[in-house]
Amino acid sequence: MDNILDNVLFNAFGNASENIFVYVCDMKKDISRWSKNTVDYFALEEEYIHKAGEKWLQRIHPNDRNEYIKDIENIFSGKTQNHNCQYRAQNKYGDYVWLECKGSVITDENGVPSIFAGLMTRLDNQLKYDNLTHLKTAHELQNKNFNVNSGILIHIGVQRFKVINSEHGVLYGNMVLVTLANIISNTIPSDCIPYRLQGDEFIIFAENKTTEFGLQLFNKINEQCSALTLAKDGIAAFSIISGIVKYPQDGTDFSTLINNAEHCAEHLKEASTDQVTIFTEKINAAHNRKSKIAQALTESIRNNFNGFELFFQPIVNNDNSTVVSCEALLRWNSHSDEIGNCYPGEFIPILENNGSIVQVGYFVMKEAIRMASIWQKKCKKFKVSFNVSYIQFEDSKFVPTLIKTAEEYKVDTSLIVIELTESVFASDTIMIQNTFKTLKKHGFMIALDDFGTGNSSFMLLHNYNVDIIKLDQTFIRGLNQSGSEVDYAIVESIAFLCNKINYLTVAEGVEDKYLWMRIKDFGFTGLQGYLFSKPLCVKEFEAFLRKYDMYYDTNK
Ligand code: C2E
Ligand code: CA
Ligand code: CA
Repeated sequence: MDNILDNVLFNAFGNASENIFVYVCDMKKDISRWSKNTVDYFALEEEYIHKAGEKWLQRIHPNDRNEYIKDIENIFSGKTQNHNCQYRAQNKYGDYVWLECKGSVITDENGVPSIFAGLMTRLDNQLKYDNLTHLKTAHELQNKNFNVNSGILIHIGVQRFKVINSEHGVLYGNMVLVTLANIISNTIPSDCIPYRLQGDEFIIFAENKTTEFGLQLFNKINEQCSALTLAKDGIAAFSIISGIVKYPQDGTDFSTLINNAEHCAEHLKEASTDQVTIFTEKINAAHNRKSKIAQALTESIRNNFNGFELFFQPIVNNDNSTVVSCEALLRWNSHSDEIGNCYPGEFIPILENNGSIVQVGYFVMKEAIRMASIWQKKCKKFKVSFNVSYIQFEDSKFVPTLIKTAEEYKVDTSLIVIELTESVFASDTIMIQNTFKTLKKHGFMIALDDFGTGNSSFMLLHNYNVDIIKLDQTFIRGLNQSGSEVDYAIVESIAFLCNKINYLTVAEGVEDKYLWMRIKDFGFTGLQGYLFSKPLCVKEFEAFLRKYDMYYDTNK
């Protein structure tokens, strides 16, 4: 890597403090390097970033962007040599933190701006007490000396806090945090200290206490949170989740202890069964595997998406069993024995977590459209669907890139289906409706994927104009030999309703003939499942179509 970016001073200052983030930019190449703590804390793609200005801008609070843009433009145009502004930037937890960003430009021998370097200092961390909850801050926790032989650290978070915030507003979200802080303070014994880490994360440090004590304390706090009522307390009941780590077994400094406690929270969120867990080797191993996969994925992306490949699963027409449609499903070969098999259910959430799903999503989009352009030449009605993560859907370049790619490959856009899950609909309704309008204007089809698994499936039909409903596999698979009449009635009614409002419908997870026969007359348009075929690589998929004579002669 460029030696301007790789110098000893950068390494030294980059590690100087948790509250200071260091960056240096080679302005001629527009490549910058960010200290490791910046990459970690703000979940940046990597230490070296091309055109970082645009990417960093996405992290900045919308209200603070103009000032930042003005400042940076002045620097890059050579108008000023010093950058000094304060703004909020979004960290890996989705919280905005105040930063003071100072930097200067160094010119080359011809006076041309060549290096831009500086520091960003966290302003909130300088505070001893948190403004909102009046608990001690993370800063205080980091500075605390250990003078005990043993203890536990309890990490407490609010379940689905982001949803609470977006559904009821930030002010209500703040009230939830204050209420929880009060409950914690009033419940813990006087020798335990509560802290607010950030966002909805709280820590209790309990010296000389055992994990049994931690579990009991959790139960007491949890009981009070679940007994709240809107009428009496002004706050509806909410759930908390908690991880408990032991000192010194699980870490001998606060950073390690907090990290391990956060791994517990991560584990609980994924498993979504328990609300509290004690840190175990298994949780540690799961976290380490995730980190290894994340690293290997980044490496694959950097190597021009090496290891990523699209598989295609046929969607069969319910009337005549021909295949005129398919879904693109991503596969990834890690090329690592240690990682072994890794399926989308495991790697997609990791890509979503670090934001790389956006880049990978464009790879998927391009490949799916490229294949659609080939297959459409052989079968005029052949549809190709691909999945779009809610994170990519919110990316401002999503719609323009889709339109451009479709033009580039000259595909019939009415045969390109964008599959979206309910998570997409958590953001701004008007924005989504407008994006849908633009997509429709350009001819694309929209499918609502995994229908029935979220909280608001029917509300979505009411609010949004989609073309296809894909009923989630769990409903179809529920119709097996031991399936109940209730499941049967649910599937039949959903198919009936969708037909009534003229939506196309696809039943997912048709695994055997028994299931197929049970739903055959419900009126689904398409059927997808292992009974017809598993997802196949391009070569196998084309062979499958040829074997069943399905696409060379379905020219209708
Ligand atoms: P999905 O969109 O609901 O895709 C259907 C999943 O069900 C696929 O799993 C498919 O292999 C599997 N499947 C199909 N028929 C059957 C069946 O009869 N029985 C059973 N048990 N399973 C069946 P896959 O490929 O592992 O993908 C899992 C999920 O990962 C997808 O669920 C989708 O949410 C996500 N995903 C896959 N590819 C992409 C992608 O390119 N981008 C994004 N954002 N997400 C993707
Ligand atoms: Ca899908
Ligand atoms: Ca699905």
